Amino acid sequence: MTDTSRPQRTGAVKQITSHSNPIVKEIKGLVSMRKFRTQSGLFVAEGLKLATDALDAGWACSYLAIGPEARDNPIAQKAAATAKARGALILEVNTAVMAAMTRKDNPQMVVGVYEQRLLNAEAVDPRQSTVWIALDRVRDPGNLGTIIRTADAVGASGVILVGDCTDPFAVETVRATMGSLFHVPLVKMQKDKFKQLAASWPGSVVGTHLKGSVDYRTPEYKEPTLLLMGNEQQGLEDDMASCCQTLIRIPQVGQADSLNLAVATGISLYEIRRKQLEL
Ligand code: SAM
Repeated sequence: MTDTSRPQRTGAVKQITSHSNPIVKEIKGLVSMRKFRTQSGLFVAEGLKLATDALDAGWACSYLAIGPEARDNPIAQKAAATAKARGALILEVNTAVMAAMTRKDNPQMVVGVYEQRLLNAEAVDPRQSTVWIALDRVRDPGNLGTIIRTADAVGASGVILVGDCTDPFAVETVRATMGSLFHVPLVKMQKDKFKQLAASWPGSVVGTHLKGSVDYRTPEYKEPTLLLMGNEQQGLEDDMASCCQTLIRIPQVGQADSLNLAVATGISLYEIRRKQLEL
């Protein structure tokens, strides 16, 4: 589990005009290098919507950088006041510094740095759950972000990262979650621990597989459901597939070998949650 026990700070406001300011360099490092994110336990989320999502959900904010347009924006001002009251350092920056920090030509008006929350296996309580999505070695940040967003939309209990996965706190992943990262519990565990969890799971344990013999629309999914998705290149490993009570397949016609991982996850989740979701 990521250590989030940081000393409480008093909030403050600081103006930064230089690209070589150490905080600018620190944020650049968090944007571009997984090693920096892992060492510091911090990550970057761009945009005002993500800042309000993070603050509303009580995530600890270390820095909130606000560009010139944010200064006349009441929502941005409220976010800055909330973050400062909770101990964040508010960075007033110009557009050039914001662009340098985020390595983007058209940066957002607000960029936040938050403390990571990655839970361990004990955080998964099947008795309190709807559906958990377990991802076997997910590699693509966009897929992971889209799956977290979809998990949020269907009311899933959380997402489990099994084995060596892409960084859930990479900027591309965070962006693709559209703020759902701040609402969906994320758990990391190794394969052996996952196998133990699957063996004692009280509801349905379902894998998606291109060789699955069961049409995904036919099972009676018993809540809590554990839905296991395979790696983008290799699919589900045999020992992971054998953890599942059922291997489902989504029918395909045409020439595509398979569906995109995030698309297959979305289709499966909507079927699993079909009876619970209403307009
Ligand atoms: N070459 C890989 C293979 O042979 O499994 C393709 C993996 S696919 C891009 C990534 C994951 O999405 C699969 O492991 C499975 O979990 C899911 N998936 C994709 N298409 C599917 C389908 N038609 N039915 C069931 N699951 C599917």
